[in-house]
Amino acid sequence: MTCEALVRQAAREIGGESPRLDAELLMEHVTGWSRTSQRAWPERAVSDAQRSRFDACVAQRKAGRPVAHILGSQSFWSLSLQVNDTTLIPRPDTECLVEAALALPLPVTAKVLDLGTGTGAIALALASERPGWRVVASDAAPGAVALARANARSLGLPVTVLASHWFEALPAQQFDLILANPPYIAEGDRHLAEGDVRFEPRSALVAGTDGLDDLRLIIAEAPQWLAAGGWLMVEHGYDQAAAVRALFAGAGFVAVASGEDYGGNERYTLGRQSL
Ligand code: GLN
Repeated sequence: MTCEALVRQAAREIGGESPRLDAELLMEHVTGWSRTSQRAWPERAVSDAQRSRFDACVAQRKAGRPVAHILGSQSFWSLSLQVNDTTLIPRPDTECLVEAALALPLPVTAKVLDLGTGTGAIALALASERPGWRVVASDAAPGAVALARANARSLGLPVTVLASHWFEALPAQQFDLILANPPYIAEGDRHLAEGDVRFEPRSALVAGTDGLDDLRLIIAEAPQWLAAGGWLMVEHGYDQAAAVRALFAGAGFVAVASGEDYGGNERYTLGRQSL
């Protein structure tokens, strides 16, 4: 069968939100043909060996397994990151935090901390854009620490990854910018039973009855880890911005503001430690 016929059939079988994209990514994984080249040469013949590997991937996708887990990688910012089931699959919306962080008035040699780094996505994106920044990342999950380190190594980016539950095990120091994409979904949220999140660890997703447990802790403790005038920026749920801004104000932050994700939801909040 041709590449196009197989992709079209697979897309019909996969269903869900982005069946055609999923099928093209799986085809690329199996054949090495980029999505552009699949479109340019739709009649290209797929060998029997490629076909059986493709069918196996499609079957996994039909069973709900995230495309990123099947591929073992996910693109984030300009990077291709290794992913696995020890941590969250990086989301495009988290790129909005990276963009906002790059727009902050920070020194060329800023010290930056990415808490709960997971794959290392935020830390690595920042390190790739700002070679002068000293970027530290931490995660409580041993599998995530190993994964973030592997990503830093294979991308050749100088990010130091430490094992720590939030600030707990970090050596005392002060940062110019602290970022976090912590778990922020409420226990029992119905979305946890749908889609890719079913295959991600609860520890990376769920934070108490209102989803704010980890955000509360991070916002309360961040001031002692920030240099005067330093910034804190956190990702949160689409309906949590007002609550998070109140937590920032309560912890003494100034210039508190929220920013939107690609879908127009208030997705992150930042504030500055007063000078
Ligand atoms: N934005 C993610 C989701 O809704 C959740 C990420 C997180 O908890 N940090 O699937």
